[in-house]
Amino acid sequence: MVRHVNAGKTLPHNAVAITFDDGLGSNYHLGYPILKELGLPATIFLATGFVDGTHPLWFQEVDRALRARGASTAELFAKLGQLKRLPDAEMRAEVAKLTADCAAAHPEVTLPMRWDQAREMKASGLIEFGGHTHSHPILARCTVEQQAEEIRQCCDRITAELGAAPTLFAYPNGGPTDFTADTQRLLAEHGFEASFTMMPARLVSGLTTQALPRYGNPTSMLEAEATVSGAFELLKQWRGGAA
Ligand SMILES: [Zn+2]
Repeated sequence: MVRHVNAGKTLPHNAVAITFDDGLGSNYHLGYPILKELGLPATIFLATGFVDGTHPLWFQEVDRALRARGASTAELFAKLGQLKRLPDAEMRAEVAKLTADCAAAHPEVTLPMRWDQAREMKASGLIEFGGHTHSHPILARCTVEQQAEEIRQCCDRITAELGAAPTLFAYPNGGPTDFTADTQRLLAEHGFEASFTMMPARLVSGLTTQALPRYGNPTSMLEAEATVSGAFELLKQWRGGAA
């Protein structure tokens, strides 16, 4: 899809690319069998430290600690929102404090895939792997040196485990203020052909290659259909026209 768009070609009507972020084991156990059955290719963006087992996803850690204390979903979201605005080092210190005395087990659905599972999926020819940093920081909250290190480590680990450097990247959190011009420059320097945000829009030719749009995971079949069919886009245009 990226190569098509970069070449200035129009995508086929209702073309869809499927992506997953982080490297969850459920991508292998739940997603992969269905993708295989339907013959659908997908790209999985790996936070390599998460798959290595050395860097738990910080937002999962906050979830685990707060839920163990009986926090509500609203309280959890409020806390995550607050943490996401902090410089990375401050955020990590806060998370360490929150999780210090948490003995709750990691729920099964939060566990990473193993590298051998990633290799098996890659060998099928159906699944491609992209980068998503090493320790999943919000890159704009990091120093430029930290950003470079996160991108380098991610590339190195994927190259070592999967035999080729990644060419696609997805920004952690993926909002408009979650990456910088430095991030985009570093990614281009590391050979990334394109990077994806979480800013929802259709993929058309002429977009900035290191800030391509992407829709979040639908929470219902209706939402999935409205996204894929373009109904949401028509609604946006209609509202834009009416305003
Ligand atoms: Zn992520």
